[in-house]
Amino acid sequence: MNNLMKTAAGTFMALGMTLAGTATAQNALPTGRSASAIENGVYPASYFPNTEILGEDEMRITALGTGMPNQTKAAVSISFYVELGNGDVFLFDVGTGATGNLFSLRPDFAKVDKVFFSHLHVDHVGDFMGLHVGGWLSGRYTPLRIFGPSGSEDELGTKAYVEGMSKAYAWDLATRTGALPDEGAKLDVTEFDYMQENEIVYQENDVTIRSWPAIHSLDGSVSYSLEWNGLKYVFGGDTYPNKWYVEYAKGADIASHEAFLPPDALAPYFGWDMKQATYVATRVHTEPAAFGKVMSAVEPRMALGYHSVLSPENYQAILEGVRSTYDGPLTLARDLQVINVTKDQIVVREASVDDYALPPAVSDEYINAPRSKEKEPSDKVKAGKWDGYTPPPMPDQ
Ligand SMILES: [Zn+2]
Ligand SMILES: [Zn+2]
Repeated sequence: MNNLMKTAAGTFMALGMTLAGTATAQNALPTGRSASAIENGVYPASYFPNTEILGEDEMRITALGTGMPNQTKAAVSISFYVELGNGDVFLFDVGTGATGNLFSLRPDFAKVDKVFFSHLHVDHVGDFMGLHVGGWLSGRYTPLRIFGPSGSEDELGTKAYVEGMSKAYAWDLATRTGALPDEGAKLDVTEFDYMQENEIVYQENDVTIRSWPAIHSLDGSVSYSLEWNGLKYVFGGDTYPNKWYVEYAKGADIASHEAFLPPDALAPYFGWDMKQATYVATRVHTEPAAFGKVMSAVEPRMALGYHSVLSPENYQAILEGVRSTYDGPLTLARDLQVINVTKDQIVVREASVDDYALPPAVSDEYINAPRSKEKEPSDKVKAGKWDGYTPPPMPDQ
């Protein structure tokens, strides 16, 4: 795959010779971090987080998770992180394991305040509470905004999911409220009709996000497009090939869509028989040859497949399937793959991250944001404190 990607990236890089952009106040990094603008459209071979200033006309998409519900270390569950040159950032899904990769990028968590759910399978929302609390601990001092579809019944929709998660984590949230900025505790849910067709679910700061229905498991799965500054990213979520995607993903610079394991690779992966593997791969999901057909109809600047584990044998099966029906630009995404998009070029690289990267520094706004009183255990519990230990005196500040 590396050869293929390098070829694709090299081709696009050769076409683009314009400046990717210059630093603006909006995308400047917080104190303590420094970065350089990309010059003449020539990028370093690897992406090192927080070393590149995103151009003001540029979009950067990072695959945080590309795998399955039963994860591997190299492929956690689904999540994509989109950064724009105007300073906005967006998360599409936050599947189990994805927040580890998000933290490894050391983002400014004050900005990581919007997540869009494609559907409520655990491999797409399983790290939701990790995102909420982890981001709140790491710089977000405003509510986390969640956008997601309704279900066929109220209890199957995004609002019910978020309310249920808040109840389940009542103890956790109660312990932190007061110690952390009060506003960061809040969850702001926008639930929209899962059947709406290419309607707007978000429009702020020249960014427009639309949704349309996906066909997957039960009613209540959707796909999204994000349009900004003449660039268009499409996030498919999980879906059987559908007419809405083929229509509304048209014009995409990056069209992402699941390219699931084909039946003969899925059967041994889960230990299933061919009947079950064929049903799941070709009736619930989109197998590689079907992904290729969809992309041949959409004709994006680059097709991006995900939702598999790209072991060597799986990679071969998926690539052959896709290439039987599609011969355009292609990335089969791995975790922590980074795609820079401008009007002139699309560059695909791997991020190089530190396994022990510390959490990012927080801002003065975070430090000074209002907090209510810190919580303590009751007197009857505190009465059990062991007198063999005396903590050091509290500093003045
Ligand atoms: Zn799913
Ligand atoms: Zn899935």
